[in-house]
Formats: sequence, structure tokens, C-alpha cells
Amino acid sequence: MQIDILTIFPDFFRGPLDFGIVRRAREAGLVEIGIHDLREFTKDKHRTVDDRPFGGGEGMVLKPEPIFECVESLGGIEPRAERVDTAAKHSVILLSAQGQKLDQQLAQELSRLERLVLICGRYEGVDERISEHLADQEISIGDYVLSGGELGAAVIVDTVTRLIPGAVGNEASTQQESFTASRKVADGVCADRSVHPTPAALTQDGPSSTCVSGGLLDYPHYTRPADFRGMTVPEVLMNGNHDQIRRWRRKTALAKTLRNRPDLLERVALSEEDKELLEEIKEQFSVVGSQSSEKR
Ligand code: SAH
Repeated sequence: MQIDILTIFPDFFRGPLDFGIVRRAREAGLVEIGIHDLREFTKDKHRTVDDRPFGGGEGMVLKPEPIFECVESLGGIEPRAERVDTAAKHSVILLSAQGQKLDQQLAQELSRLERLVLICGRYEGVDERISEHLADQEISIGDYVLSGGELGAAVIVDTVTRLIPGAVGNEASTQQESFTASRKVADGVCADRSVHPTPAALTQDGPSSTCVSGGLLDYPHYTRPADFRGMTVPEVLMNGNHDQIRRWRRKTALAKTLRNRPDLLERVALSEEDKELLEEIKEQFSVVGSQSSEKR
């Protein structure tokens, strides 16, 4: 994959893209990242990239010309009319608080493309003609306002790169984690990334292939030591009973999702076992809840 980032602060990217999986993916040639300084596409001696907003109001707005010219200089980008088509292989993305919110499913869709261009806004934002005529989508990394698109671009690069086949040593691990809906096919390999795994697929997974996130949050992970300052690892993880481990992992994933992200539970297909486990969780919760209110 080729990723081009357009920014007025190219030095910002020294660091965030030089570690871990992204660094290895770059070194292995799985992803090539180009950083482009928008000031190089200005024509005045002050290298002006921003101007006052028409109609008045606060702050400054990034001008359209350097951004259009920078994208045009990249070469080989599919025309916008093709990029808005579902068969597109390229996407020009404007980072924007007003964009579609990034989630794991969108990251998966982006990871299947061949080319991404990420346009980082600053100040009050970017001249609207960028989103109307140049970018094919606007992406937000969350419901808050950042001072620039650079952090958002780094987030997209990170989450998309780790989904490129070969970027993560054990590919199954990117298919079993939080939010990822995957379906077990055979021998512990999760392949299908469809959003709604069948209940049967959810119950068939073994502990070595806990491809059971199914759109929920991940289950808790522990490593050695088994006893750290009296904080012990759950007994069930050390008894070697694969079915018990699988059930415990599913139950803890459900419990954490219920506690932190109940909205996700409404969107996933729950198996009969999941429903039983949720009942158990709610019962335990109400017992613990009533015990603690008795103490008070
Ligand atoms: N006036 C704008 C905010 C501009 S912030 C508004 O109210 O929506 C300046 C730039 O930061 C934006 O152009 C965008 O590129 C980036 N940015 C801000 N918040 C972001 C978010 N949540 N996700 C992605 N990019 C964001």
C-alpha cells in the first residue's frame, strides 16, 4: 500500500511512524509512506497556506490551491468519480471532525485499498472545496476537536497498516481482537470479516483460536508471573481445560463489553451460550451490587 500524507507540519511525523509494526511494515515494503509539505506547493515568497474566511469569523482556513496541486503532483491517483465508486482502489481522505467516525470496520475497508492520501487540516479547517471536489471521504477519529489532522492521520496509518496481511507476525491475532467480527473457518483460522458471525461460529472456537470477539471487546490477557504481589491470574487459565478457557474468555469479553460498551452488544449476533453467559453475568452483578449496597 502507498500512503501519502499532506501536512503543513511534515516534521510531526518523525517518530509516530518509526516504531513497532508500522516501522517493520515499511521496512518490509508492505507500506510506503510519503510525507508532503504543503508549503512546497505555494507560490508566494511567504509560502502562505492559509487565509481569512469569506463571510468573516474566527481564525484562518487552509487554502485550496496548495492542497489540489500537491495531490495532483502525486500522480496515478484514480479520478474522484472512480474513487467514489465501490470498486475503487484509491481513496483521498480529508481528516475532519465533521467526518465519518473511524472504527475497526472502516479501518478494514481502508486496509484493502492500494493507495491512501491523507489531508491534514489545521486552524479553523480546510476550504470546503477540498471535501466537495478533491477528497472522496472525510474521516474523524472521534467526537472531539483536535488542533490538526496529523494525529488523526497517524492513527489511520497505524490501524490500517497492522491489518495489511503480513504486517503482524501472527495474522490471526488481528482477527480476534476487540471490535473485530470474524468467522472461524477451519483449524483455528479466522478468515471472514463479516460483521455478523453466525452463533454457531461463535460457539465453535477453541481457546487457541479465540476468534470470538465477534464485534465485542477483547477478553483479558495475562502472562507470567502467575502471582504478582498477591495479584493472581485466574485459575481457569492454568488448568489446561480448553472448553473452560474458551467459555471464561467469552464470558469476560461479554462482561467487559456490558460494562464499558453496552452499545456493541446491540449490534452483534449473540449465540445461545452468549445469552446464558450474559444472564450469569447480570445475576452475579446484581448479587455483588446488593452485597455492596448492604455494606453501605
Ligand atoms: N472548525 C473545525 C475544527 C478545525 S480543527 C470544526 O469545528 O469542525 C483543525 C483540523 O484538525 C481540521 O481541519 C481537521 O483536519 C483536524 N481535526 C480536528 N478534529 C479532528 C477529528 N476529531 N478527527 C480528525 N481530524 C480532526
